[in-house]
Amino acid sequence: MIFDTHAHYDDEQFDTDRDELLSSMAAGGVGTIVDAAATVESWDKIVELAEKYSFIYGSVGVHPDEVGALNEENFARMRELLKKEKIVAVGEIGLDYYWDKEGHDLQKHWFIRQLDLAREMNKPVMIHSREAAADTMEIMKEHGKGLKGVIHCYSYSLEMAREYVKMGYYIGVGGVVTFKNSKKLKEIVEEIPLESIVLETDCPYLAPTPFRGKRNSSLYLPYVVEAIAELKGISAEQVIEQTEKNARDLYQL
Ligand SMILES: [Zn+2]
Repeated sequence: MIFDTHAHYDDEQFDTDRDELLSSMAAGGVGTIVDAAATVESWDKIVELAEKYSFIYGSVGVHPDEVGALNEENFARMRELLKKEKIVAVGEIGLDYYWDKEGHDLQKHWFIRQLDLAREMNKPVMIHSREAAADTMEIMKEHGKGLKGVIHCYSYSLEMAREYVKMGYYIGVGGVVTFKNSKKLKEIVEEIPLESIVLETDCPYLAPTPFRGKRNSSLYLPYVVEAIAELKGISAEQVIEQTEKNARDLYQL
């Protein structure tokens, strides 16, 4: 079944129909979901979702746009939450020079601290990186060695994708691969092995065509599967089966 490696069902956009939607996942072919933390406030909601639904797992971490909220006290809390069985990763963490809300130095500081925490707790990482290709690679080479992880919503070059694959990281592919103008990502999906790709929604964001611009959900992942299958010249079933296997390896499930 489909494994969504990166979703945000804790988001308020799901407040009106969260339970109804999540209860329809199995019928829609979605077997497992990892809900990714972005803010400190999201942690409790994610723990709650993971406790309520057997097929939902969670991460704890702080998105680069939100690291101004981190301090030693909530960092220690992150370490405690990572001891929970259903909290399977540190994420989403990284660098975002597009919004650049917190400045490069503070982003780098907490990115490295969170990578080190993942190593200490023996957990994989979910990496968010936007317009910060070189700095992210440099930090990953120095502090990410030997860690398992996924470069979520991958948006850089084919050469860099190959480098991450060589380092053992997975490449997260979602709705963007269905967009007409996503030539670069389509080429990457063609060129890198299916064994290095995992499916993700980043919902409520990045809905695939024909729902582009609307609220996304894991139920739309068949459109992403179809696009990957077409690019690779294989069946949708093969894409679902291999990416599920990859995701289970990534999150040690
Ligand atoms: Zn996300």
